[in-house]
Amino acid sequence: MPKAKHCEAVRVVVRCRPFSRREETADCENIMHIDDRLGQITLKKPKAPPDEPMKVFTFDSVYGWDSKQGDIYDDAVRPLVDSVLQGFNGTIFAYGQTGTGKTHTMQGVSNDPEMRGVIPNSFQHIFTQISRTQNQKYLVRSSYLEIYQEEIRDLLCRDNNRKLELKENPDFGVYVKDLSSVVTKNATEIEHVMNLGNQSRSVGFTNMNERSSRSHAIFLITVECSEAGPDGEDHIRVGKLNMVDLAGSERQSKSGAKGLRLKEAAKINLSLSALGNVISALVDGKSTHVPYRDSKLTRLLQDSLGGNAKTVMIATVGPSHKNFDESLATLRYANRAK
Ligand code: ADP
Ligand code: MG
Repeated sequence: MPKAKHCEAVRVVVRCRPFSRREETADCENIMHIDDRLGQITLKKPKAPPDEPMKVFTFDSVYGWDSKQGDIYDDAVRPLVDSVLQGFNGTIFAYGQTGTGKTHTMQGVSNDPEMRGVIPNSFQHIFTQISRTQNQKYLVRSSYLEIYQEEIRDLLCRDNNRKLELKENPDFGVYVKDLSSVVTKNATEIEHVMNLGNQSRSVGFTNMNERSSRSHAIFLITVECSEAGPDGEDHIRVGKLNMVDLAGSERQSKSGAKGLRLKEAAKINLSLSALGNVISALVDGKSTHVPYRDSKLTRLLQDSLGGNAKTVMIATVGPSHKNFDESLATLRYANRAK
């Protein structure tokens, strides 16, 4: 049972993946203890003396190795997508070290219904809800972009090496100039859009995982609904849903990183810490200044973080003692966001 919400607008949940086959054969020790009833996760430091207190964190929900994709969607994501259908904005992030399940959680395996992640499940949810309505007309558009080294690329455009600019306009707020926006009429069509973008993400890079661990991918769905009001006029409401597979949170600036790697690392650290600062300023509620302008990611998501918008952060961790430092850093980051 999920614990009472600490903050309506921002929900933070943690998901721990199972041991990989390699970890199983390498005799890794499980250092995560998950109490889903209390929403608590306890982290045991490897080789710690018995009297050293363990690290305990409490979140809105925690999910252990046996959690199902459907559970995550129903508990953590569905209410947010419902509010997007009502005309509010929302953002879902997957945050964590590379290899802990961000892409698994966001994308999953498309052709296995049990294994579909947040993004394809949202397609099904949105179009099912739309098909049940009678007096409204809906327009669903999607865009898919990547932020790599503080540069924005359109994943749905043939010329996807072009760098796009962020612009600001008093009517639409912050937007990406020339970003493709594809109208889709059903879940199959929008899934096709997602697959196209995923293919484009890997083009030109020898190692897809290398690249995806260093860039943020944002799948954006805009749901526009028009309904005839009592005055006979059409009333339009628009909700935006941002689904973000963040760059790996691992400390990249280990000694030895030089040149491009070092620059890359600095930019990833900058944008993830800017995001952390924005979310904690929003949660805090007392901050007069929310530092949206500190990174492309937070500028772009400005109208979908804070205000009436809802945010869900899914922090992902692995169970092995070998990842203790990174897991602790992830839990601390997530803890700051609630
Ligand atoms: P990330 O995107 O954070 O780098 P991935 O999503 O690629 O990590 O996950 C790494 C590996 O672990 C993949 O093989 C993935 O299928 C597996 N995995 C991640 N989370 C889970 C989970 N909850 N259950 C089963 N396998 C998982
Ligand atoms: Mg990934």
